[in-house]
Amino acid sequence: MSDLRGVLFVGAHPDDETVMAGGTLAMLGAQGVPVTVLCATDGRGGESGGVAEASTPEALAAVRQEELRCAAGALGIDGLTWLGYEDPVMGPDEELFGFAADEAALIAQVAGHILDKGVSVVISHGTDGEYGHPAHVQVHRAVARAVREQAPDVLFYSVGALVPEIEDRLWNASDPAHLALDITPWVEAKHAAMLCHRTQHALFKRRRKLATVREAIRTVESFRRQWPPVDGRAAPDDPFAARLRSAGAWQPRFHEAGE
Ligand SMILES: [Zn+2]
Repeated sequence: MSDLRGVLFVGAHPDDETVMAGGTLAMLGAQGVPVTVLCATDGRGGESGGVAEASTPEALAAVRQEELRCAAGALGIDGLTWLGYEDPVMGPDEELFGFAADEAALIAQVAGHILDKGVSVVISHGTDGEYGHPAHVQVHRAVARAVREQAPDVLFYSVGALVPEIEDRLWNASDPAHLALDITPWVEAKHAAMLCHRTQHALFKRRRKLATVREAIRTVESFRRQWPPVDGRAAPDDPFAARLRSAGAWQPRFHEAGE
């Protein structure tokens, strides 16, 4: 496929790729686009979900590495790279933290990886870190600067873009969606990848009081083009947008005052 040289997903934790973009990544892989994942942290700060062999932070990091490898296989992802930052353990009341990283160093690592892989599209977290996760915001900022400052020919799309007709606590209110894709044709791959992330099953289900992992699958994945910036209401016109449109993606309508 000559229009997309490759797509890189940059996530803060193992499972972000699946939860936020698994169906889209599976679709791209099935169409022959090389898809790779860069994961910033080792995920040791998350919950173990009652998985016995993940009872310490170190053990959880090892288990989550396996889980991401399993999910990558399920989604048809060609390459997986870890930056290896230590994921800080949650505080009381599930308080979440960013990870200890020098921002300039992180930007350089992300930019180096983008240029190394020669991808034409980077997908990563949204402006608000979806539900406000500081590590997601941190990765969003690093990717935005890496692309803008060191790889300006690369497109940067963020996940969890606001789709007003669908209610979801993960939408980034600051990022109105340019593209929303119904991933139902690729839902089995996404389900298989979610099953791989065993330590996160309790979390997937708990927030919305669901009985099964399958019910926790988001079947609409949405994106906003962050770079190059798009004028207010315009629809982005680039190879990634074209690819998603040909897979059925639509641009949600936003009603503004005066309309
Ligand atoms: Zn995450």
